[in-house]
Formats: sequence, C-alpha cells, structure tokens
Amino acid sequence: MKINSQSMKLLNERLILKTLVEKGFLTRIELSRMTGLTPSTIGRIIYDLVRIGFVEEGDQVQTSPLGRKATSLFLTKKFCSSIVFNVGVEQTEVAIGYLDKSTKKLYKFSTGTLSNFIEHVNDFLELIGKEQPIDPKRTSVVFAFPGIVDPQKAEIIYAPNLNWKNVKLRDLIHSQQPIFADNEANLSILAESAVSKDVKESENAFFLYVSQGIGGGVTINHQILRGERFAGAEVGHTVVEARSDVRCHCGNYGCLERFASLFLPVAEYEMNGKKLSGETLAEKFNSLIRINNLGDQMARKALKNFLYYLSIGIINIVNTFNPKIIIIGGDSDSIWKNFGKELHERVSERVMPKTLDGVIFRDTVFSGRNASVVGGNIMAIEHTIETLKVS
Ligand SMILES: [Zn+2]
Repeated sequence: MKINSQSMKLLNERLILKTLVEKGFLTRIELSRMTGLTPSTIGRIIYDLVRIGFVEEGDQVQTSPLGRKATSLFLTKKFCSSIVFNVGVEQTEVAIGYLDKSTKKLYKFSTGTLSNFIEHVNDFLELIGKEQPIDPKRTSVVFAFPGIVDPQKAEIIYAPNLNWKNVKLRDLIHSQQPIFADNEANLSILAESAVSKDVKESENAFFLYVSQGIGGGVTINHQILRGERFAGAEVGHTVVEARSDVRCHCGNYGCLERFASLFLPVAEYEMNGKKLSGETLAEKFNSLIRINNLGDQMARKALKNFLYYLSIGIINIVNTFNPKIIIIGGDSDSIWKNFGKELHERVSERVMPKTLDGVIFRDTVFSGRNASVVGGNIMAIEHTIETLKVS
C-alpha cells in the first residue's frame, strides 16, 4: 500500500480496531498510549467507528487515582461478526460470534452425508438470518472441519473421516455473506493465540486436537504452518506402526489416529457388552475417564493403549516442531489434567535430550469443542479488520 494521508488513516483505523479487539474495554487515553497515536487522531477515528456502528461508548471510568474520568469504549454486539459451523464427524455445532471475541452456541445437528449437511447449513443460515443480528456485509460464515482445507478458497480438499473431497463451499452455500473455512486444529491454535498469554508469548505452539480422529495445528514464529497443500501438521496421519495392517481412512496403514483417537478406548471398553453413559463419543470418553478415576480396572485397561500411542504422537511432535507449548483439546478438555503426569513421564523417556526443557503442556483453556468455534470467530474478525472501510 502506498503511504499517503488516506492510506495512513486506514492503517490507523485498523490498528485501533485491532487494539480494541485485543483488549476489550479501553478509553481514548488508553488507546492513545497503546497505539502511539495522538489523542486528536484517536478522537477522529473513534468518532468514525462509532458513526459506522463498530464501537459504542459505555460508562465513565476512573482512569487515574486523581479522579479523572473517561468514557469507556467497547465493540458493539448489535451485529454478529460470524456464524460458525463447527463440523464434527458425528455432530455439527452452530454458533454466533461477536467482535469482542465472545461466542454463543445456538444449535446442534447430525453432520450426516454431504448433501444433508449442505441442506442443514442453508436452512440454519436462513433461520439465523431471521433470529439473530446478522449484517449481510459484516457477518462472515465460517466452517471448522476435521481435514485438509484451503482457507482462501473455503474449499475442503479432503476430510478423511467424513470422506468428503474437493468441496467448494462457496458454490454450495446460499449466502451473500463472506464464507471462510479452515481446519479445526488450525482454528483452535488461532483461538489460543488470541486469548492465552502463554501462547502469545510462544513463538512456536502446538494444538493437538483429539476427537474421532487426530488433528494438529502449529504456529511457527507466530504464523500458522499451512504446508504446500494445506496439510501442515496433520500429525494424526503420521505412521506410528510401520508394519501395521490397521488401515486408516486416509488409505495408509498404522496412522496415529487409528491408535490414539477417542474412538479406540471407548470401543475397547464397550467391546465386552458394557456400555458407557453418553450419546456422543466425547460424552462416552468423559464417562470412561470418570470411572477410571474411581478405580475401574476395565477402564484402566481400555485407556492403556490410547495413552501409550498418544505419548508416541507427542514424542513425534516434540522431535519435529519442538514447540514451546503443547495444548491438548478437541472433544476432551481434561486429558492432560487426568493423564498429564503419566504422559509426561513416557514422553520424557523417549524424546531427544534437552528438547523438553521449559516446554509447557496443558489442556485447552476452552471447554469441549469451543476452541475451534472461537477460532472461527477470530478468523471472521481478522477479515473484518483487514477489509475495514470507514468512509
Ligand atoms: Zn491416516
């Protein structure tokens, strides 16, 4: 962009909006201090952002001990920044998001076949358009998928567990709104990067997405690693049993996700006719953790291989990317809380020396599948900031 007064104004407008998204509530004085822009520039831009309905003025807040008061500024909730479809193999969740990064879940439906799915999406978009504050130009539609996605084209290249290939969402969705899509693990690391201090401070961070399959999202020098054909960090399809005849949905044999997804321990427990409580795989896995914690020996046995192979997956992540932080999430948000000690011991025994020094492991800060929903909304907000036009 050529720098003239008009483009400078645009850059400043984007900077202010970005700072407000980052911090939430701010006063004009705080904005000036954080952005380095003069109070008069801040005043002019905030006037415009209020006029076009992005920013609202709130209460007077105390800004100094001497008693000066200033008006707080916050991002409007009068329109949604996004409608997010968080697509799982079993279920799809529908949520809305706002510019302040908050999200709200609205509905769930069975994902089903591709044609059923598209039909549901179009129906829900129509319904949400009537019931929620949707702005056709400002509300993006975002999809989170388990699989390889071209985010620029909103195209599913390949989702192995759904067996969907070359799906051009923009051709199938009846909406004038901007449409985006990304891999669920990439959106999860994006969400953690936007809200978690430890990830913001880590140049390299990994999100291990454990659900029906296994996905990975990694930031290298704060940028999501996409790979040449968008399959960057697909650790679920790294081979952990080279001579195995266990076939994966991707066509290969012995992939990590055939041994360490949530499906395996649940299936192993239920193999002998016992049933775990819960409808979905996530609910059943959480039941398995619960009874394991009560000392159930069969639960312990069912989890044994899962934990072994999960540790192998983590060893491969450490030795490949050596991230500062490894976050585990997806359909469970308590794997590290429950099994972290055991996993860490196994990983420590087998990674290259010194590679674990200072490395943080934890569960995601988001409950359930929320990380990819929040990430989808962040993707929409980033688009809003990048395409902001005030005048
Ligand atoms: Zn595979």
